[in-house]
Amino acid sequence: MKIKLSQDPCRDCGYCCTYLAMEIDRPRSASDFDDIRWYLIHRGVHVYVCPENVWHIQFAAPCLHLKNGRCKIYHKRPAICRGYEVHNCSRHAAEPDEKHSFKKEADLKRYLKKHRPRVYRKMYPDL
Ligand code: SF4
Ligand code: SF4
Repeated sequence: MKIKLSQDPCRDCGYCCTYLAMEIDRPRSASDFDDIRWYLIHRGVHVYVCPENVWHIQFAAPCLHLKNGRCKIYHKRPAICRGYEVHNCSRHAAEPDEKHSFKKEADLKRYLKKHRPRVYRKMYPDL
């Protein structure tokens, strides 16, 4: 569902130009989840699962062309930027765009304890 936006919905924002995100394989084994753990112990790395159950890794990495919340090469910006839909962005989406969000290892531990208890016990046998 599209929501009604103001004339300049991106005013003073620029958030979507401050990171890179890409799809990763859905983790299945303890070894796969240990890789996720490794990602999360790096500063600026975030893992999330979108509502369609696709897993992504996100790196905090502001674009070099972002200045004061504005794109300085707007008319020559890459296709991936042109294809980004403000109606679907995390700031304006009607629905949350993350089913699960892992910003640090503790988030992963909580997820495993609840959803993958066997993997949790294998990865954290002393807890
Ligand atoms: S598309 Fe969304 S996240 Fe990006 S600048 Fe506009 S309001 Fe901000
Ligand atoms: S090129 Fe422009 S629109 Fe694309 S990420 Fe950089 S600042 Fe944002």
